[in-house]
Amino acid sequence: MRSPQHARRAALSAAALAVLVPLLLLARARWGEAQHLTVAVGLLALAATVLVPARRPRGSLADLAKHTGAAAVWSTGTALAGLYPTTLVGPVLLSHVAHALSLSGLAVIAVQQLRHARVGGDDQPLLVEAGLYGSVMASTAWDGFARAGYSGDGWWDASAGLVIAVGSLVAAGTIVLAIEHPRLRLSSAGVALGALGTEVSALTSTQQPLTGQVALVAALVGAVAVFAFHPRSGLVRHGGAATARAVRRLRVASVLPATLLLADVAVFVVSPRADGVVFVFFAAVIVAAGLRYAATARAIDRTRDRLSFQALHDQLTGLQNRAALQNALTGPDRTQSLVILEVGGLDDITDVLGVSVGEDVLRAAATNLREHVRALGGSTFRVRHDEFAVLLPGFPDEVVRHLPGAFAAVSAAPLQVPGAGRFPVEAVAGVSRVDPGVRAEGDATLPLVHADLALRDARTTPAGSGYSVYSGAVAAQHARRLLVRERLALAVTEGAVDVHFQPIVDFSTGRVVKFEALARWDDAVLGRVSPVEFIAVAEESNLVVALGEHVLRRAVRSAHAAGVFAAGVRLAVNVSVVQLQSPGFADVVREILSAYRIPPSLLTLELTESVFLDSDSPAERVVTDLAGLGCQIAIDDFGTGYSAFGYLDRLPVHVLKIDRSLTQSLTGEGNGRSVVRTVVDLANRLGLTVVVEGVETHEEASICRSMQAGLGQGWLYSAAVTADRVAAELEREYPVSPEAVR
Ligand code: C2E
Ligand code: CA
Ligand code: CA
Repeated sequence: MRSPQHARRAALSAAALAVLVPLLLLARARWGEAQHLTVAVGLLALAATVLVPARRPRGSLADLAKHTGAAAVWSTGTALAGLYPTTLVGPVLLSHVAHALSLSGLAVIAVQQLRHARVGGDDQPLLVEAGLYGSVMASTAWDGFARAGYSGDGWWDASAGLVIAVGSLVAAGTIVLAIEHPRLRLSSAGVALGALGTEVSALTSTQQPLTGQVALVAALVGAVAVFAFHPRSGLVRHGGAATARAVRRLRVASVLPATLLLADVAVFVVSPRADGVVFVFFAAVIVAAGLRYAATARAIDRTRDRLSFQALHDQLTGLQNRAALQNALTGPDRTQSLVILEVGGLDDITDVLGVSVGEDVLRAAATNLREHVRALGGSTFRVRHDEFAVLLPGFPDEVVRHLPGAFAAVSAAPLQVPGAGRFPVEAVAGVSRVDPGVRAEGDATLPLVHADLALRDARTTPAGSGYSVYSGAVAAQHARRLLVRERLALAVTEGAVDVHFQPIVDFSTGRVVKFEALARWDDAVLGRVSPVEFIAVAEESNLVVALGEHVLRRAVRSAHAAGVFAAGVRLAVNVSVVQLQSPGFADVVREILSAYRIPPSLLTLELTESVFLDSDSPAERVVTDLAGLGCQIAIDDFGTGYSAFGYLDRLPVHVLKIDRSLTQSLTGEGNGRSVVRTVVDLANRLGLTVVVEGVETHEEASICRSMQAGLGQGWLYSAAVTADRVAAELEREYPVSPEAVR
């Protein structure tokens, strides 16, 4: 999308210069005094430099008009003053009028430059770039003043010119010192040197030709420095609408130096003061200005194109991104539906096959989904790591008919990537309605919020249709979550969350060998809230860190008081992955253990497999630290998640807790029993303790015992009891059922 236009403009600029430079040379050589021709050539040059970039349709027309108008006024004034230094119009000198004209043009330019600097905002390179142009303008302005002053030969004129030249040096120097960009600093120093050299040369060339020529050489060096060091890229580092606007203005502004220099040349070519050196200097300046202009314009355009593409697209998949979606959600002209589609299973692929395979699968999913959606007249975006958004025309109840197809498109992705085919990828979706004509930005994001809530609903409804449409019920759930979060935060600060203890029994002896601490919360407003609900809410809001620490302290304190540790019985506490990732968790555990002088081996920390899925996660190090302390590590809910096993030899794990759902399958028709047997065998072979969760019947208990599973936990023995009943549980001996059921 970029090269043809740039190439064309660069070629046009080069061609304009290739024609103009010889024309000027010719004008000077053949018709040295043919002023009208020179003025015509100068104006042509002006038109060419200004108009060639102006053909580009995307710039702001008002800006362009202001700039080119001001530049035209300035250069026409200067040209007239240079060409007719002594002509009288009525009682006044034409050159005075011309200078007044050129200064009014300059005033407009100066104001524009200040605006550019402001538009740049925090973006330092933009500010600096504007500053550089400002310094060019300033030195040119002083040049204009100087020329107005030294039209005579007087002492005053000469000193005024010098003062002005030194002033321009100081001004440019100030800018130089403020600039941190090293190349821009050199380039700005070149501007200052060029300005000073030109002034001194103009002032001295008639009386002291040698000084004049030395000054010209200095000016030449300065000019070369400007063109050599001016950075052509990297001017703009950040995206965003403001930057795009600023870049547009700067591009217009970059026309100016070239324009002014060309107009200047038109004057000097015919000026009686011009000697060979002056001429060569300015010829060099024109060529360099043209080249620099072309290069700068190109670099800026390329950066701008890249930025605007990057700003609205996702790099990995090439789909449009969240910002683009937000634009699309503002003011659609008919009712649409927004689908947020979450891709599940990518983490497994990345975990086992590596990041690049995971990315390939994601890319394939993006391509498939885009094709599917395009055929339906919709558009596809990538909004989060593993979430796509789809905008489709129509109401949600019409659009959901297309979801199975979209799910299938995503699920097909692993099959297209070598090696990934055995990993299933599944999508869930949340759908919301996008009403037409919404203009306000806040309202435009509402469908996103709603679709996110619906997605969350779809995610937490196991074995549903795979999607959920935003509705009153979803909204009510959201409101409930907010209320639970608010009340729970209060309960945690007040220490109102209680801990109960569920005995864990040795299948072969019937003795209680361990207790699991389970959080219990009775709220004044909400009544009893299940830990399944409030732990999930706490994990979302980081509240689980404070809650978990509270539960841990309270559990240890109560168990200690009930004599659990003294009896050599263990305590198990659930730890959320969010807690593990919070800094200092291991220190908290260490501190609590030493406060009660508890042998660390009597404390078991129950974690879920999700902790181990990402082998780079800091959680893994914390687990190693905790095991290093001597604590036992248990994998909770084993058999429900990924069961990737890989972590079992990578990390210190002591206990596997077989999930309740597997326990239930022990007595059913399916192959649940052999699954449990395999897991128990594996655990025994690895030297891990097995705890079977949710044991409700004697039949289940005997099956477990026959499989050599060590420990059981469940309502067959006891539900969780309050702290004051723990001591009694320690004494208890549960009946061991007489024989194994086969
Ligand atoms: P979990 O760690 O798997 O805890 C076992 C859950 O199974 C407990 O539910 C327990 O009451 C229940 N249970 C025990 N025996 C039986 C049985 O025979 N049949 C049935 N159907 N259920 C049984 P609870 O207390 O509702 O806790 C639910 C989950 O909440 C826990 O599952 C655990 O993941 C989480 N949780 C509870 N307390 C905490 C805590 O302090 N911190 C963290 N991070 N999570 C906790
Ligand atoms: Ca547990
Ligand atoms: Ca469990």
